[in-house]
Amino acid sequence: MPTYDVIVIGAGASGMMCAGQAALNGHQVLLLEKMRAPACKLRITGKGRCNITNIAEKEVFMQHIGPDNRFLHNAFGAFFSDELVSFFESIGVETKKEQGGRIFPVSDKATELSDSLVKWVQSTGAIIQCHSEIKDILIEDGQIKGVVLKDNNKIFAKSVVVATGGKSYPATGSTGDGYNFATITGHHVSPLHPLLVPLRASEHFIKSLSGLHLKNIAVTVFIEGIKKHEAFGELEFNDYGIEGPIVLSLSRKCIYDIMADKKIVFRLDLKPGLSDIQLDNRLKRDMNSLGKLGLYELLRGLLPQQLLKVFIEKLGISADKKCGQLTSAERENILHLLKNFDITIIGHAGYERAIITGGGVSVKEIHPKTMESKLVKNLYFIGEVLDLDADTGGYNLQIAFSTGYLAGISIKR
Ligand SMILES: Cc1cc2nc3c(=O)[nH]c(=O)nc-3n(C[C@H](O)[C@H](O)[C@H](O)COP(=O)(O)OP(=O)(O)OC[C@H]3O[C@@H](n4cnc5c(N)ncnc54)[C@H](O)[C@@H]3O)c2cc1C
Repeated sequence: MPTYDVIVIGAGASGMMCAGQAALNGHQVLLLEKMRAPACKLRITGKGRCNITNIAEKEVFMQHIGPDNRFLHNAFGAFFSDELVSFFESIGVETKKEQGGRIFPVSDKATELSDSLVKWVQSTGAIIQCHSEIKDILIEDGQIKGVVLKDNNKIFAKSVVVATGGKSYPATGSTGDGYNFATITGHHVSPLHPLLVPLRASEHFIKSLSGLHLKNIAVTVFIEGIKKHEAFGELEFNDYGIEGPIVLSLSRKCIYDIMADKKIVFRLDLKPGLSDIQLDNRLKRDMNSLGKLGLYELLRGLLPQQLLKVFIEKLGISADKKCGQLTSAERENILHLLKNFDITIIGHAGYERAIITGGGVSVKEIHPKTMESKLVKNLYFIGEVLDLDADTGGYNLQIAFSTGYLAGISIKR
């Protein structure tokens, strides 16, 4: 059995970048992946379009990352968004900028980007071996010796890189194995939880709104009755609750409150472009002009069709009541509900639907200049397995690629 210089466990974003860079640095590299193909998760990122990174200035970029973004100072210093975009262009993946500084491949195809990355890794001389699940790290006399496969075979190497990702979307192969590798080699793993995750709601009408996509919605989050967070953007209803960009971002902000079963209300302003006075004037005008037509007609001009039945049920006014007969108290109720459509949050959708995993290998035990463990020489941790997480917008993949790059160029010969 040959001894490799480097074994990388996990052919995801971080592992592939690391394996390729280490091979370019002259190492004999074996990249082991348990799935039948590399990059299963990368292929489904960004709703199949892959939001590679974000071109926000470094200081702004950092604000989207927690819990200890200073750890990434060296990784971003070595390989940040500009370098990542240039790297992809150099391997034939043209990129484009979209709203909010988000970078996507021009093709809008995450599969094309993944295929190019795999080809690049192969071109560097690194060997990718799929169907190879690692069950243990091989350590003898406190020294890294290689890895143990699920069938108990051993593969020897001078350095081992753990690039196994988190626990979210386990069907892609990311089942949290790296946290075990960290624990058995003496590292601390901070508590794990789903993050950037759809939320469950208690309202009986939720299922009837499934598929409804609301653009330009303002949401205010109340926790135990106190206003805590605000967001503006797109929101979608599903069978059990809400999802979409603002819900995912807000889930990151209130995940601990959700897990602590606190009373959480997402208050939707369905007409954020109009002030209360403007909306009231509009209602008065419409009520006058619609006169003998029913309430349903009035609301049809203000809300999407799918929401009308639920909205009218919540109002408690007959859908047939003529606009000209609505009282000023009823008009006030309509106005109030348009501005305060409450959704009660009772949980999250779990790892199956979470974009990332919060918690992970403590970055205090990792050298920020190399990604090598401070506890075990020649053992490295990169990507989502680390206790780092970020908002949606391309930040998480940049963390994976930057930490992968830094480890790849740092592994000593
Ligand atoms: C649906 C979805 C959409 C997303 N979209 C975006 C986006 O557009 N932009 C963005 O920035 N982020 C996005 N993310 C997050 C991003 O994909 C991850 O943060 C990133 O992939 C983490 O990279 P990684 O290399 O650390 O881990 P992963 O990409 O999860 O790769 C880990 C690899 O290790 C392998 N592995 C695990 N255990 C073992 C083992 N024991 N033996 C061998 N192999 C093993 C797995 O099979 C897997 O291939 C998205 C996530 C999801 C789930």
